[in-house]
Amino acid sequence: TRKFFVGGNWKLNGDKKSLGELIHTLNSGKINADTDVVCGAPTIYLDFVRSKLDSKMGVAAQNCYKVAKGAFTGEVSPAMIKDCGVSWVILGHSERRHVFGESDELIGQKVAHALQEGLGVIACIGEKLDEREAGITEKVVFEQTKAIADNVKDWSKVVLAYEPVWAIGTGKTASPQQAQEVHEKLRQWLKTHVSEEVGGAVRIIYGGSVTAATCKELASKPDVDGFLVGGASLKPEFIDIINARQ
Ligand code: 13P
Repeated sequence: TRKFFVGGNWKLNGDKKSLGELIHTLNSGKINADTDVVCGAPTIYLDFVRSKLDSKMGVAAQNCYKVAKGAFTGEVSPAMIKDCGVSWVILGHSERRHVFGESDELIGQKVAHALQEGLGVIACIGEKLDEREAGITEKVVFEQTKAIADNVKDWSKVVLAYEPVWAIGTGKTASPQQAQEVHEKLRQWLKTHVSEEVGGAVRIIYGGSVTAATCKELASKPDVDGFLVGGASLKPEFIDIINARQ
């Protein structure tokens, strides 16, 4: 059985005051011990968040660069992230892909380097609305997954996050059936193209307008192993989502 995994993606939100309050709420909340919890903090607050958040919860960066150091103004490396005591990074998020123009190739290179440096990777994929409507959801997510998979040797450090772009920040959560259908196909893809064992073991989590109201039914689906939560991860309701599977 796969351990339930709930990530929060705080995106470009918060300040020391509000994040400090959120961390206080999370630290004092009752959290299911059978669940991995990881909070994705803005880069500049990684050190601050890691120093305040209870060590039973992990911290993730929301991005990193593909090399260790050099003349790359504005970038941060996995080594720097680790130096802040942070052990995860979110890569390939739809906002990185579609707002900042990151390609499958660049995301693959980042995944390879982050894993090489010993970070855990939450690797994100997901189709846009026009792609779903054109019936090419599978083609899109398989291509994105291949670009990631080609760069992974140790799958124990990878969590795959399926985040349909049309569901992100829109309030239009995928239905449990829609999520399950894609997760099942992704798992089958991994079994075929990586190995039966990896396909069975990799956590595939869902992201896109997850709330306390929608999380329980999604969590009951056999191939939904957790969530990547945006807006609701900034609220006390995040604790209910962490505890979605009881
Ligand atoms: P929302 O939960 O705000 O839709 O964001 C989802 C997301 O992008 C998580 O990475």
